[in-house]
Amino acid sequence: MWGGRTGALLRVWGLWPAGVRGRRPLGCNAASLAGNNSPQCWNCGGPGVPKRGDGFFCPQCRALQPPDLTRDYFSLMDCNRAFAVDTAKLQNRYQQLQRLVHPDFFSQRSQTEKDFSEKHATLVNDAYKTLLAPLSRGLYLLKLHGVEIAEGTDYAMDQQFLMEIMEINEKLAEAQSEAAMKEIESIVRAKQKELSDNVSKAFEQGEE
Ligand SMILES: [Zn+2]
Repeated sequence: MWGGRTGALLRVWGLWPAGVRGRRPLGCNAASLAGNNSPQCWNCGGPGVPKRGDGFFCPQCRALQPPDLTRDYFSLMDCNRAFAVDTAKLQNRYQQLQRLVHPDFFSQRSQTEKDFSEKHATLVNDAYKTLLAPLSRGLYLLKLHGVEIAEGTDYAMDQQFLMEIMEINEKLAEAQSEAAMKEIESIVRAKQKELSDNVSKAFEQGEE
């Protein structure tokens, strides 16, 4: 009843929120990364921040720099690019990034920095939400691997698939006793394994 087929997993895509299926290219190709390793600071014209790492601010003038749109969500959230993520670590990272780029901290700064902080904050929110939920995380992994997602028509199974995920989330929120938590944890693990198996299958399909 879980569906358990890659087809079902892929069809779910059609129902997923816009943040996950954004039309902006992810830019994981070599061309978009090449020749852009030391962008100049928009404010002072200095050498800017290194491509790798967390330098959101110019080391010379401290101006907030625009978001690096070639960076994928796993890199931004400091997670390994894999289905299994440490959600506690993900949450810490989310809070850390919010403290750096939240628009509230830029109310006294230039309009350019205000705009950049809005963009950063949106990106961080999207990345966090996408990687937090197993389903959207799996779908995002597929996307990074270039698996084409066909817009589907069989929404009945998709709904069921999503309902199961939501039910588990609700149970998890309601659970009081440790025994109940343990039981739910084992259900979630089984579901996650099934989902990751589906993701693996889809990867294989994508490599054909
Ligand atoms: Zn600067």
